[in-house]
Amino acid sequence: MQNGPLVERDLKVLWHPCTQMYDHLTLPLIPVRRAHGIWLEDFEGRRYIDAISSWWVNIFGHSHPAINEALRQQIGNLEHVLLAGFTHEPVIALSETLVSLTPEGLTRCFFADNGSSAVEIALKMSLHYFRNLGAPQKARFITLAHSYHGETVGALSVSDVALYKKTYEPLLFPTLVAPSPDRTLCPPGLSLSEHTAQALAGMRGLLERHHETVCAVIIEPLVQCAGGMRMHEPAYLTGLRALCDEFQVHLIADEIAVGFGRTGTLFACEQAAISPDFLLLGKGLTGGYLPLSVCLTTDQVYAAFFAEYSAGKAFLHSHSYTGNALACAAARATLDLFAQNDPITTNRLLASAMASAMAPLQDHPHVASLRQTGMIAALDLVADKAKGEPYPAAERRGLSVYRYGLEHEALLRPLGDTLYLMPPYVIQASEIAQLVEVLAAGIDHATQ
Ligand code: PMP
Repeated sequence: MQNGPLVERDLKVLWHPCTQMYDHLTLPLIPVRRAHGIWLEDFEGRRYIDAISSWWVNIFGHSHPAINEALRQQIGNLEHVLLAGFTHEPVIALSETLVSLTPEGLTRCFFADNGSSAVEIALKMSLHYFRNLGAPQKARFITLAHSYHGETVGALSVSDVALYKKTYEPLLFPTLVAPSPDRTLCPPGLSLSEHTAQALAGMRGLLERHHETVCAVIIEPLVQCAGGMRMHEPAYLTGLRALCDEFQVHLIADEIAVGFGRTGTLFACEQAAISPDFLLLGKGLTGGYLPLSVCLTTDQVYAAFFAEYSAGKAFLHSHSYTGNALACAAARATLDLFAQNDPITTNRLLASAMASAMAPLQDHPHVASLRQTGMIAALDLVADKAKGEPYPAAERRGLSVYRYGLEHEALLRPLGDTLYLMPPYVIQASEIAQLVEVLAAGIDHATQ
């Protein structure tokens, strides 16, 4: 079979995510026949390195034998059962492991089936906690500039990326926005620690004015991913934890994108030695196999809901596929691979291979803000490097690099004009070099 007939059938009946479907009049849609390790293969035998881990979900490569086997075992016993009034071993064992691996104090797991739903859960739980404690006025959230927490209405309300948010403003609840500690926004002449302190001062100002009506601050620790791979100092997280304690608001750490080793530690919060009140995990949780997410929280939060039914304090949120047994089996197999193979240590070598391969791009006349945190490396295309002037968005230079990548064995889907690598951890240094070669040639092609 060729790609063509499938594409034709697809375009008659599908509407793809995050896509202007009109683009597919000229942009190739790639039907994937199979995938193995870092490679995707289409129906015409063309291969593509999955440089962005299929939207950041894949951890140990496609079609991993251990995860495949775990799923085969699980499917023979139980595929799914509702999680209200019933339970199963995979979800119990997974919860035990998550409680043991995550920062101290996170003792309860509430499952959902996608990242945005986990965000909704944390928002509702935080607000509901204060309501149960007799403080219903604490019902607003603070988010950071350029943050992204998902596409559902609540998650979008606490996001700050105009591209996704602007159209839907009439649907969204108002959220307070604090300055981002993003390193690339550090003005010349200011040190990173001064820049971090300024961002914290901005947060303090908001909390001083609004803490009585705020229940939580939500943050993507260390890397604001969808907002443009904006990276900040661990010190910001340490300072933020202290501010949340001082002003008695919850800290929600959305590690849906950065969890499971992306930033160089299993969880980004570890680098600041902090524990959030809510930790959100998704994406890589199942190794990129199945939709599953979880909101972990503390005994203190749990206790505020634990009362006789008539007290009306229960958290009645639910999703049909909460704690799906197959997804939990994939997640357990993924966490077993972390325990057996110590990818955090091997990733240090891969991260340094990525840094060396990317370093020459620093001198490219149309590349700005080359940056890296752990296994995430990013850069911005700019029209004028000296002035830091971006290309007009309508020119879609990033998309042109994407097209170039597809013709040269690389899936390099950008975020506007921000290009990045976030590969599965089974990539080899030589394959990183190959990817960066394509990236560099694609940038030349797109900026000439
Ligand atoms: N939070 C963060 C930080 C994310 O990056 C994403 C997805 N890119 C989400 C939440 C939403 O997750 P999902 O797409 O699974 O709903």
